Amino acid sequence: MIKLSHLTSYITCPRLCYFRIHDGDESFTEFAAIREIYLSMRQGFDLDWARKRARALHKAFDDIVFDSAARKFVYPQIDCKTVDIDIVLKSESLGLLVSVEEIVECNGEAVPLFISLNPPEKGVWMRDMIKAGAASIAGNYSNALIYYAYTGDVRRVEVTFSLRRKVIKLIERVKLIQRGFLPERRESRYCDYCSFSEECERKSETFASKFL
Ligand code: SF4
Repeated sequence: MIKLSHLTSYITCPRLCYFRIHDGDESFTEFAAIREIYLSMRQGFDLDWARKRARALHKAFDDIVFDSAARKFVYPQIDCKTVDIDIVLKSESLGLLVSVEEIVECNGEAVPLFISLNPPEKGVWMRDMIKAGAASIAGNYSNALIYYAYTGDVRRVEVTFSLRRKVIKLIERVKLIQRGFLPERRESRYCDYCSFSEECERKSETFASKFL
């Protein structure tokens, strides 16, 4: 099965997606910390519980990362009712699993809500659009909300036909990577923080990788 995190990794870097699929990635990021804080608080637990939860669920849990994320976290002011928390949508036919932070009910409509960290000036990041598109494909939703936990912004994504097509294309590319195609190395700012940088420099490209 392909996970939503594989699709969003591909957006960051196709090679990163390769390494995460084939080698796994246990690093504890601020995003992972924020997710645990959000899920705990939306269920009425406090920060202390969120830390215990994060420590229990993440092998590489790090207090410094958790504290840094907790200092920046803004509690959401969302005028919608919680329907469900921390669920996984599944598309058997496409082999896709989509983890959703929350399903909320806004104006009588059930909408998936995803968390992210800082928002762009306008709209949402491409990786957040992909989350909305994947939820629409796996759960048949026509909208999604993105909660930017470092600023408190809530932004809506309307899922269009073209977004769904983008997600399908992305699934096809990730399926090729799953079968063993190693994408071409593309240097970016992310390489400075990438936990696979040494391995990435060692692995050479294949001819097929140029088509990913
Ligand atoms: S080092 Fe750079 S190119 Fe290689 S996987 Fe990481 S982000 Fe991608």
